[in-house]
Amino acid sequence: MKNEVVVQFPSLSEYERLARMIVTSFMMPYDPTIDELADIKTVVSEAVTNAIIHGYEHEDGIVELKLHVNNDRLIIVIKDEGKGIEDIEQVKVPLFTTKPESERSGMGFTIMEQFMDGCHIESTLSKGTTVTLEK
Ligand code: ATP
Ligand code: MG
Repeated sequence: MKNEVVVQFPSLSEYERLARMIVTSFMMPYDPTIDELADIKTVVSEAVTNAIIHGYEHEDGIVELKLHVNNDRLIIVIKDEGKGIEDIEQVKVPLFTTKPESERSGMGFTIMEQFMDGCHIESTLSKGTTVTLEK
C-alpha cells in the first residue's frame, strides 16, 4: 500500500518541533529502532530548520513536509518557496555556512548525507528549495 503524509506549516521555528513529532508518529508502524528514529528526526529537523532560517530569511512562508513509504523505502521531502540556493555543490561542503554570525556550524547537509542513503537538493534562486532524503 502507498503510504503518504503531506503537511504544510508556517516558517516559524516553533514548528520544527511539530515536524519532529509528525515524523515520529509516521514512523511508529514501521517499528524503527531508537537509533533509526533519532537519525530520521535529526535530518528532518536540519532540513526544516534550513527552510525556516535560510529559505525564508527575508520573508515568511510555507514549509511543506512530505513523508512517503514505498517498497520499504522511506522518502522525505522538505520544500520551501524561499530565496533558493545559488551554488548547490558549495552548500554541501562540510562547515560551509552563510550564517556564521548566528552560530551555525554548516553541518546540516553533511549530517543529512551521512544519516540517509540519499540527499538530493533542487533549488532555483527566488523560487525555493526542495530537499529529498531517502533511506
Ligand atoms: P547548521 O545546519 O550546521 O546549523 P547551516 O544551516 O549554515 O548550519 P547547512 O544546513 O549545511 O548549514 O546549510 C549550508 C548552507 O546552505 C546554509 O548556510 C545556507 O546558506 C544554505 N541553505 C541551506 N538550506 C537552504 C534553504 N532551504 N534555502 C536557502 N539556502 C539554504
Ligand atoms: Mg542547517
